[in-house]
Amino acid sequence: MFLVPADAAGFQLKRHVPSLDSGFIGGHGEIEFAGVRVDDDAVLGEVGKGFAYAQVRLGPARLTHCMRWLGLARRAHDLSLDYVGARTAFGSRVGELGLAQQLIADNEIDLAASRALVREAAWVLDSGGSGRHETSIVKTFVAEAVGRVVDRSVQLCGATGVSGDLPLGAYLREVRAFRIYDGPSETHRWSIAKRALRNHRRSDAEGEDVR
Ligand SMILES: Cc1cc2nc3c(=O)[nH]c(=O)nc-3n(C[C@H](O)[C@H](O)[C@H](O)COP(=O)(O)OP(=O)(O)OC[C@H]3O[C@@H](n4cnc5c(N)ncnc54)[C@H](O)[C@@H]3O)c2cc1C
Repeated sequence: MFLVPADAAGFQLKRHVPSLDSGFIGGHGEIEFAGVRVDDDAVLGEVGKGFAYAQVRLGPARLTHCMRWLGLARRAHDLSLDYVGARTAFGSRVGELGLAQQLIADNEIDLAASRALVREAAWVLDSGGSGRHETSIVKTFVAEAVGRVVDRSVQLCGATGVSGDLPLGAYLREVRAFRIYDGPSETHRWSIAKRALRNHRRSDAEGEDVR
């Protein structure tokens, strides 16, 4: 693993990839490396261990994504609580209507479950575990939960939710990509299931937990 200075010969930023989300500073660059050479002092860690280093980064990176988008979902939820607490319709505040309360409660449940899964995965990583299984689970759950929370928040805010007066439309665009980045939900589910089956087989045979 090594760093490449942006002015190195052969390094070229071909374009900024247009994407649904816009929150990443600097955007998403499509980069070409054509015969680039770097000095020894550009090497990070030990030569030949780059792939292993990249693997170590995966778990914490997934949690960082979870926490960032969870913050956005929490903000969306707060905006919707502000709105339904103030808006009156059909003789009461919108927040006092049962169907609106279901959306509010489901947001709370998704947020609480997401936070709990983030904490559990962080605990496994802090304890020295690989956290592969836990970070796959939390990544899949939070990526989908934040989408549900922001979508419900838009719903609760009615036309104001889809207007540019609130940032909820922009939040929807931001969180959607998380179901793709760092592995789509389908590939995480695939590896979660494979690990579960392998773990079950081995624990049956040897009483061993392979996570
Ligand atoms: C703008 C941008 C930013 C990115 N940023 C990051 C980043 O910060 N970190 C990062 O890790 N990656 C990032 N990526 C890459 C992203 O993780 C990949 O795009 C993603 O893993 C999907 O790979 P793919 O695009 O090759 O999709 P493909 O492999 O072509 O898959 C397409 C679809 O097929 C389905 N699929 C694929 N495999 C399976 C399977 N085994 N079972 C069932 N269905 C399946 C899924 O629905 C998937 O979405 C970024 C990509 C883009 C475009």
